[in-house]
Amino acid sequence: KVHVQDLHKSYGNTEVLKGLNLDVKNNEVVCMIGPSGSGKSTFLRCLTDLEVPSKGQIVINGYDLSDAKTNIDLVRENIGMVFQHFNLFPNMNVLQNITLAPIQLKKMTPAKAEKTARDLLDQVGLADKATALPTALSGGQQQRVAIARALAMHPKIMLFDEPTSALDPEMVGDVLDVMKQLARDGMTMIVVTHEMGFAKEVADRVVFMADGLIRESGAPKDIFEHPQNPRLQDFLNKVI
Ligand code: ATP
Ligand code: MG
Repeated sequence: KVHVQDLHKSYGNTEVLKGLNLDVKNNEVVCMIGPSGSGKSTFLRCLTDLEVPSKGQIVINGYDLSDAKTNIDLVRENIGMVFQHFNLFPNMNVLQNITLAPIQLKKMTPAKAEKTARDLLDQVGLADKATALPTALSGGQQQRVAIARALAMHPKIMLFDEPTSALDPEMVGDVLDVMKQLARDGMTMIVVTHEMGFAKEVADRVVFMADGLIRESGAPKDIFEHPQNPRLQDFLNKVI
């Protein structure tokens, strides 16, 4: 569960987030769309404490990020994040990439971590790539490993920041399929994406961000078929 209230973030004199409010329920899939520079990535980075808000409140599964007593490591363990660029460790094979955090942070035994990793590789369709190095994989395969790596920590919430936008078109479908399955399995997800088809099909709710604020939010059907905000209408005309 995510609760965000009046979230502001400035860099110097530039206010990038201008008082954002968003609640995400357990098992809900929220897709976030909006023009470049509107603050989508900054927002996700605030949720994982990679950025510290200038003002406002973020509560994730009961943990208040602005409370000095909150153990941020515990919060982060609950959140999996997948970025546009996969950031796999290049000198480790697929299995080692996935098992590193569970072994080091969760003190899982190597045997158990490997079992989990192999199950996850199966789930993302890469059971045969366990001992491959990331450089030997396609972009889409690397991104699916990145998803498996995030899932290995058993997160309660998954954040995705344009996970398919750096991929060759023919790789996109496989990654989206993994995300669709995750959504069907009940994962709570916030997905920043330019894939409007995915948003239409998978999102419980679509939120449109422009210029540091959520300007419109609703069921995919309403957002795509009956957009109200002129900036959303304009945005959709450009991307669809
Ligand atoms: P895109 O769709 O291109 O990924 P976005 O919606 O994710 O865009 P952000 O990356 O959140 O946008 O950036 C929002 C604004 O904040 C931009 O104008 C950007 O230049 C600015 N910004 C982001 N990070 C920093 C930073 N570390 N220092 C200064 N300005 C920043
Ligand atoms: Mg971004």
